[in-house]
Amino acid sequence: MSVLESLRCPLSFLRTALPSIPHLELLESEQQWWSTAALPISSAIDRAGTPWVRSFSATGARIDEILYPAEYYTILRRGYRAGVIWRALEEKSLLPSYLLIHLISFHDPGICCPYTVSLGTALPLSKYGSADVQSRFLPHMLKNDDSVWQGATWMTEIDGGSDLGAGVKTVARPAGDRWLLTGDKYFASNAHAELAVAAARPEGAQPGVRGLALFLVPRFRAGGSLNFFIRRLKDKIATRSVPTGEIELRDSEAYLLGSADSGIYLILEVLNISRVANSVVSVALAQRAIADALAYAERRVAFSKRILDHPLLHHQFESRLAGLRSAFALAWESVRLLDQVWLERPPYSDRYHLFRLVAHLAKYWTAEFAVDTAKWAMEVHGGLGTLAEFGVERWLREAMILAIWEGTSHRQILDGLEVMERKQAHKLLFAHLANSALAGEARELASEIERLLHLPVERKEVQAEPLFRRLALFTASALSHSPSA
Ligand SMILES: Cc1cc2nc3c(=O)[nH]c(=O)nc-3n(C[C@H](O)[C@H](O)[C@H](O)COP(=O)(O)OP(=O)(O)OC[C@H]3O[C@@H](n4cnc5c(N)ncnc54)[C@H](O)[C@@H]3O)c2cc1C
Repeated sequence: MSVLESLRCPLSFLRTALPSIPHLELLESEQQWWSTAALPISSAIDRAGTPWVRSFSATGARIDEILYPAEYYTILRRGYRAGVIWRALEEKSLLPSYLLIHLISFHDPGICCPYTVSLGTALPLSKYGSADVQSRFLPHMLKNDDSVWQGATWMTEIDGGSDLGAGVKTVARPAGDRWLLTGDKYFASNAHAELAVAAARPEGAQPGVRGLALFLVPRFRAGGSLNFFIRRLKDKIATRSVPTGEIELRDSEAYLLGSADSGIYLILEVLNISRVANSVVSVALAQRAIADALAYAERRVAFSKRILDHPLLHHQFESRLAGLRSAFALAWESVRLLDQVWLERPPYSDRYHLFRLVAHLAKYWTAEFAVDTAKWAMEVHGGLGTLAEFGVERWLREAMILAIWEGTSHRQILDGLEVMERKQAHKLLFAHLANSALAGEARELASEIERLLHLPVERKEVQAEPLFRRLALFTASALSHSPSA
C-alpha cells in the first residue's frame, strides 16, 4: 500500500507509523464498524446540532435529562465496550486507549471527548481515591458493557479557564466523610456523566492554584436525588454530539482525591491525560482532512487533468503528508512518555518533566497543524469546501475547538516555558533526542532557548512563540526520523 493510500484508513496509517500495534484484531474490527455503521450517525448528529436538556419531568420534578438521537448511544457505547477506559486499568497501559482514540476520532473527533474525560476521571480515582470511594465508584467505570458509567472533568468557571487560580470560585466545605461543593462550572463537557472530577477551593485554603483541590462528584447524592443541576447546554460550532453545559453545584456531595494541599498536581495530571488525547485527536483529524482532500483531488478535473496531478497541488499533498507523519511522531511520543509516567506521584521524576514539555509541544503543534490542514482541505475542495452538505467544513469547526480546550495554544507555550525554566526540561529533551536529532541544529536551538529563558518576563513572553514553534517542529521531525518511530 502506498503511503498516500494509507491516509484513507486510520489503522493503515498507524501501521505505517508504529513498529508494532497491540490488539490488532480488535482495532481491525473497530475500524470496520466505525467506517460503515458509525459514519452516517456521526454526520447526522453533527447536522442536527447540540443535544437538548429536559429539566423537569411531566409532574414537575427536576430531572436534568439530556436527550439525544437514540443512535448516539450506539456509537458512544461502542468505544467503551472496546475498552477505551477499562483496558487502561486492566492492562496497566494507556496505549490501547490512545490507539482507539486515534482510530475513532478519524471518523468522529467529538466523540473522543467523552472517552477522554472518562479516562481523566477513572485514572485519578484509581490513583488517589480512598479505598472506600474506589470500591463504591470505580467498578462502574470499568464495565465492558452498556451499564458503564461515564466521567467528566470540570475546572473552568465563568471568570476564565487559563487562570484557574483566580477563576475557580467553587468552595468546598468538609461534612463528615465527604465534602459539600458550591459554585458554577461554565464549560462542563459530558454534563450528564455519572461521575465528574471538579476543581474547588476548600474553605480557608490559600488563594491561587496552590489552594485548589480535586474532588470526585457523583451525579446522584447518596440518597438518590440529583447532586448537581445542568443550567443549560452550550450551542457549539462542533463537538456537537457532546453535551457541554453549565453546571450548578449546590452543596453537592463530593469526595476529596489525594490531599487538599496537592490538588494542583492532580489537576495537572488530569490535564495531562486530556492534552495527550487532544494531540492524538488533532493528528487523526488532520489525517481525515487530507484523506477527504485526496479523494476529491483524484476525481476533480481542471485544465484537462485531475487536480491531484498538477505539480503545485501534488507537492502540497506530499508536504501535508510529511507534516502529518511528524505531527503523529510528536503526539505519539507524548503518549509513550505518559504511559511511562502516569503512575508517578509528586515529587515527580525527570522523566515526568520531560513528558510535560513534550505534551505541551504536542498539544500546541498538533492543534495548530489540524486547524491549518482542515482549512487547506476546504480550499482543495474549492467552493464545495464551504458547503455544509459535503462535510469537509466540519473538520475546521472541530479543529478550532482542539486548539482551545485543554488549554489554548498560548497556555501551552507559557506552561512549556515554565517547565523549561523550573525543571530544565529542554535539556532533558535534547538528551532524549540525542540519537535522532541533528546535533548542530540541537546546539543552536539549545543556546537560543537559554538566551530566551534569561530575558526579563515581558520580553521573554513576547519572543516565546517562534522559538516554541521551532522547538515543536524540530522535536517532531527528529522523532519521525528516529529508528524507533
Ligand atoms: C467546546 C468546549 C468544551 C469545553 N469543555 C470543558 C470541560 O469539560 N471542562 C473544563 O474545565 N473546561 C472546558 N472547556 C473550557 C476550556 O478549557 C477553556 O475554554 C480554555 O481553557 C480557555 O479558557 P477561557 O475560555 O476561559 O479563556 P480565557 O482563559 O479567558 O482566555 C482568553 C484568551 O486569552 C488568552 N490568555 C489568557 N492568559 C494569557 C496569558 N497569560 N498570555 C497570553 N494569552 C493569554 C487565552 O489563551 C485565550 O486566547 C471547554 C471549552 C470548549 C470550547
